Amino acid sequence: MSGRRAYGIVVLTGAGISRESGLSTFRDPDGIWATVRIEDVATPEAFARDPARVHAFYNARRAQLAAVKPNAAHQALARLEREWPGPVLLVTQNVDDLHDRAGSRPLHMHGELRRARCLACAETMPWTADLSTATPCPACGAAALRPDVVWFGEMPLEMDRIAAALAGCGLFVSIGTSGTVYPAAGFVADAGHARRVELNLEPSAGSASFGEAHHGPATKTVPAFVDQLLLSR
Ligand SMILES: [Zn+2]
Repeated sequence: MSGRRAYGIVVLTGAGISRESGLSTFRDPDGIWATVRIEDVATPEAFARDPARVHAFYNARRAQLAAVKPNAAHQALARLEREWPGPVLLVTQNVDDLHDRAGSRPLHMHGELRRARCLACAETMPWTADLSTATPCPACGAAALRPDVVWFGEMPLEMDRIAAALAGCGLFVSIGTSGTVYPAAGFVADAGHARRVELNLEPSAGSASFGEAHHGPATKTVPAFVDQLLLSR
């Protein structure tokens, strides 16, 4: 193996990678935010005002996960993590667990549908059932559980670790993201020194910041790109 080529890779994924598994995206004309208002279900204020409604929204999405499976794009990234000789950090904006089930260990910057967090004791835990305002916390007993997802107005997780990986990477790949939601939309600028590649169904809002783009369904573009990368080792 040549040390010269074992540079670090940061991969950012968004809802577009899970679309072909059957999960809805957010900002497309037929996406989730076309039918539900962000401020009704995905902010701390919404949860304070109407926790039952917020729970119902996330319960439905959590239940949906049982009916979907990782696709060829998730599998290809898991293979990249296994076979690339340098460090690979997979950062996902997705709260689904399809990367995890494909064998990856992604950093979930927006949290996870299949985790709950207690507002009384701050414990977080795996969670696959429905949540309600009466569900007791297994750790402290308080009825104070919320989905362990990052809402609008809250700070994404592990930003320091992501910034460090972006600063040191040789390749940044953005997959299936609208390029409109910060801070993730700013990662391409943070990786300005590196090769920057966009894999997306169509050019994203941030397309111009990438030196290279492959447009098409993730299940085609991602495995093809990973194959090329692994051949170039
Ligand atoms: Zn608790």
